[in-house]
Amino acid sequence: PPQGYYTRRGGIGESGDFITSPEISQVFGELIGIWCISEWMATGKPKAFQLVELGPGRGTLTDDILRVFSQLASLLSKCDISIHLVEVSPKLSEMQALMLTGGRVQPDPQDESAYMKGITKTGVPIFWHRDIQDVPPGYSFYLAHEFFDALPIHKFQRTEKGWREVLVDIDPEVPDQLRFVLSPSSTPATENFIQPEETRDHVEVCPEAGVIIQRLACRLEKDGGAALVADYGHDGTKTDTFRGFRNHKLHDVLKDPGTADLTADVDFSYLRKMTQGKAATLGPIKQREFLKNMGIDLRLQVLLQNSHDPATREQLLHSYDMLMNPKKMGDCFNFFALLPHHRLAQTDKKHKPESKSPLPPVAGFGELSL
Ligand code: SAH
Repeated sequence: PPQGYYTRRGGIGESGDFITSPEISQVFGELIGIWCISEWMATGKPKAFQLVELGPGRGTLTDDILRVFSQLASLLSKCDISIHLVEVSPKLSEMQALMLTGGRVQPDPQDESAYMKGITKTGVPIFWHRDIQDVPPGYSFYLAHEFFDALPIHKFQRTEKGWREVLVDIDPEVPDQLRFVLSPSSTPATENFIQPEETRDHVEVCPEAGVIIQRLACRLEKDGGAALVADYGHDGTKTDTFRGFRNHKLHDVLKDPGTADLTADVDFSYLRKMTQGKAATLGPIKQREFLKNMGIDLRLQVLLQNSHDPATREQLLHSYDMLMNPKKMGDCFNFFALLPHHRLAQTDKKHKPESKSPLPPVAGFGELSL
């Protein structure tokens, strides 16, 4: 814990180790804000909701969402909103507090399950928690942007003798050098984390992601809301994706541990399985399809029309290309949602002629209809 990357470094942004979509363009967070409001409206405008972000980094995504909530204040005026950030990094939580509240926070509030609380610049109560279990129950929108890829994985290799775990060992020949080895026999992890129907020869499993997804699915089943997961990932097809980044360049994962961002693609098929049928799922779909459905093209046009400075226009077009271009983040980045089953239940007019008009499609996975 004291030597880990997010405790020591956590360099997100152009001057750090990796860049993420909310840091690239304000439009990204604005569209996620619209997504929450569209789901809130589709479910009958509940009187209160919590916005829960897992691994909020510098806090930019929540900041952009809060701006949308302020702009739509008249629509949300009767709704009681609170923000809950799930963050383990002391350094990043300080950065988030500065960005979202201007530093007006109270550490260790005695009356709450939070380690810090405050009021955002837009006047919304905000709380910091170390674990999703500390977030109070209630109708919530859960956001996980480049969160699951940061959680630790187990790696497994199929051999003639059965599954073996890939472990990290100290190289006996070179001091201070780490190396990968295969476990000589099966391990508790090979026994527990490999699905019997697995067909791949090399697998990465993130049990911590599975536990968090189970908790999210239970919360959605009980209290309603929606969860949106956005990450590099695949639907159970990829094998060896574990890699490191330092200063925007690939970095050997075994070199100078704690100084590079370590990441593994998210296996969405595993996340789906871990809902254990408690929540319905949508996706994964590609980032460019999701953002197109959310109306990114229209938003870009409006911003271009309103900006006369050539440098700003250039920046808008450049960031649009980063997010949407299939060769950049458009194709390899995916969106995946968890929803209560009743949100997706088709109202079958033949069997239930008395039923009301069907619920609108979930924005992003279908077209946005506000
Ligand atoms: N969502 C942000 C940051 C992504 S980096 C963005 O897209 O820009 C991953 C984030 O998850 C960081 O904020 C990191 O501190 C946090 N994090 C990593 N492991 C965590 C854990 N086990 N519990 C809670 N947060 C964690």
